[in-house]
Amino acid sequence: MKILKIPKKKLDLFASILHQGWELHAPVEQNGKFAFKPLDQWAQARLAYNRTLLAPKKYFLPPQEAMFEYRNHEGYVPSREGLDKRVILFGVHSCDIFAINILDEVFAGKYPDPYYQIRRKNTAIIGVDCVPDEYCFCRSMRADFVDKGFDLFFNDIGDYYLTAVGTSLGDDLVLATAQLFEEINDKDIAEYKHRSSEKQKAFKLDVEIRDLLGIFELEYESQIWDELGDRCLSCGSCSMVCPTCYCFDVMDHIKLGSKEGSRVRTWDSCLFHSHALVAGGENFRKERSSRIKHRYYHKQSGFVAEFGRPSCVGCGRCIESCPVKIDIVEVLNRLRGEEHAIS
Ligand code: SF4
Ligand code: SF4
Repeated sequence: MKILKIPKKKLDLFASILHQGWELHAPVEQNGKFAFKPLDQWAQARLAYNRTLLAPKKYFLPPQEAMFEYRNHEGYVPSREGLDKRVILFGVHSCDIFAINILDEVFAGKYPDPYYQIRRKNTAIIGVDCVPDEYCFCRSMRADFVDKGFDLFFNDIGDYYLTAVGTSLGDDLVLATAQLFEEINDKDIAEYKHRSSEKQKAFKLDVEIRDLLGIFELEYESQIWDELGDRCLSCGSCSMVCPTCYCFDVMDHIKLGSKEGSRVRTWDSCLFHSHALVAGGENFRKERSSRIKHRYYHKQSGFVAEFGRPSCVGCGRCIESCPVKIDIVEVLNRLRGEEHAIS
């Protein structure tokens, strides 16, 4: 992997060159929170941030999208809305890149989704390192470091960003701006190692996942699920903010008085009462306890069986956003018998 460095003071020039061929999106601050947004100018970007409200998955799987329209005399007309945009996502954290790699397994693997695939192909990813806060446990989920899924990855080493080139597209971006990059030296490497080890010391949350599959097998009837069901409001926030939750609902929006309309998919959550409701009124997960249990089993156990790892990346969004403070780390540690109560 090629590694160079770029001075921080030249980032605005780098961004302005990229802007000529791409839409540039980066974390922007809004009332003390962060969100990925299109930039008008580089000064709006905040590369030192804890987490964005919504994960970058919104670029590949929008909260709502029309997949096609059906029109009189024309039949089905696929929607191309937003598909041709070339977007650079600048400032994606390792855990969110890891999450995109997981979504790739689902939407670009055995059952490829053309909408997802086109957006993914038209999006370049520039990662940036981060410092864990009180909600992060990406290290436990082995997502605090990525070696694929990015075109470029920036590591803060003071006045410079150490820049790892991950793909040939990343190489093209560097070649197009070659005058801004410099070779690295021993001092840069020492600074990178120092900051890396400081980052490890900053983690406050930990959970052991090596034997989690077995623990989940043993704890299916645990009273924990009833306790969580009593507290959970079924609001679905945890799914909406999660970078790897990908359930969606499909509905036809028919224009009144005509035979035309569109087929639309919208983010859904397995925490919603309607998620397992089927024709005839039967609901396979009527109780909140069974729905929250389902979420945990799918992410931490079912996904392991199919893809070899949990689908949680430890980003901490669900902990921060839950209105009743259901904390996934506490739940997993409690299942392991390492916490006596869920606070
Ligand atoms: S389950 Fe929670 S911590 Fe894990 S990836 Fe989803 S939002 Fe992040
Ligand atoms: S955010 Fe909390 S209350 Fe809302 S559905 Fe998720 S676990 Fe339940």
